[in-house]
Amino acid sequence: MKKHIVIVPGDGIGQEVTVVGKKVLDKIAAKFGHEFTYDEALIGHVAIEATGNPLPDESLEKMRNSDAVLFGAVGHPKYDNDPSAKVRPEQGLLKMRKELGLYANLRPIKLFDELLSASSIKPEILKGADILFFRELTGDVYFGERARSADGNTAYDTMIYSKYEVERIARKAFDAAMTRGKKLMSVDKANVLESSRLWRETILEVAKDYPEVQLEHQFVDAAAMILIKDPKRFDVVVTGNLFGDILTDEASQIAGSMGMLASASIGDGTGVYEPIHGSGHDITGKGVANPMASVLSAALLLDISFGLKAESEAVINAVDQVLKAGFRTRDIADATTPADKILGTDAIGEEILSRI
Ligand code: NAD
Repeated sequence: MKKHIVIVPGDGIGQEVTVVGKKVLDKIAAKFGHEFTYDEALIGHVAIEATGNPLPDESLEKMRNSDAVLFGAVGHPKYDNDPSAKVRPEQGLLKMRKELGLYANLRPIKLFDELLSASSIKPEILKGADILFFRELTGDVYFGERARSADGNTAYDTMIYSKYEVERIARKAFDAAMTRGKKLMSVDKANVLESSRLWRETILEVAKDYPEVQLEHQFVDAAAMILIKDPKRFDVVVTGNLFGDILTDEASQIAGSMGMLASASIGDGTGVYEPIHGSGHDITGKGVANPMASVLSAALLLDISFGLKAESEAVINAVDQVLKAGFRTRDIADATTPADKILGTDAIGEEILSRI
């Protein structure tokens, strides 16, 4: 198979982990006889420094003309401490999502058995949990009208959804449920919010086309509680942008480390694959970032954008084997990990590559 991939490392540890993600794609191409070609594009702080723009048109064009994008992260301490900065790295991320029409963010939360002890949840509650979140990405309070009163003392943000936006992500989530346990949980706040009532009505309409899928509705507060109490109750979950933002970060903690979780942002065109973590200011340049989220993002890319299931599984298996062999990066090591098994970004990347 011939495919063109754009690598977009972005800022901080995004630069460090994406190198490993790309090497994994190269190894897969060599091993399975595919031909992947690459281009690189700027986003975030590095793009602002080079061009003044957090997502230059040239980057967007490269992404549009590719078959998939492997992205790192954006963010720089300079902006975190200056909320008034007009040009900001995360504007690049929001623009990329909007311009590429990436309306669905998929976050698989699947635990590797070897890492059960790294979670703050008891292993017996956690073992076997396997959740696939669908977070809507282009609507909600992030894109609704917002304003501040003239005296600066009152502000509002508008939570807004159209039926069309709910329907298209609902179909993606129902389709995924059909390929898994045929269970879907829709999360809203329909007891209070009008946009949530539209959300729920639309989900119910789409459900008529999927009679085999067992549909459950939960309010977001209840869902947040069940996620900690009984994570195995979830299979596929679909929710809006704000609730999804919060719930998926909560879910990332049941998985133990930010460094292990991948995500896919998809729409009807090019898909973007990225770790859920940010640019990791505190560890940038130290060579200790866990590259597994980027590697697992590459696995998602192979599966979802290219339909290469065996190749994707080969990557996930390699990560599993590395963990089984006892190797850890610092973030997933514990008191029982021998010092010689704690590896840096490149070294653990090599361990993964050698097992593909
Ligand atoms: P972060 O995800 O960068 O880091 C949170 C903590 O997890 C840090 O202690 C970090 O060292 C650790 N961590 C994260 N990824 C790791 C990895 N691969 N290996 C080992 N440890 C890892 O979140 P933050 O510190 O809140 O934000 C830092 C910057 O990233 C901010 O500028 C923020 O705006 C940005 N950010 C970007 C994205 C994105 O690009 N998608 C997402 C979240 C945050």
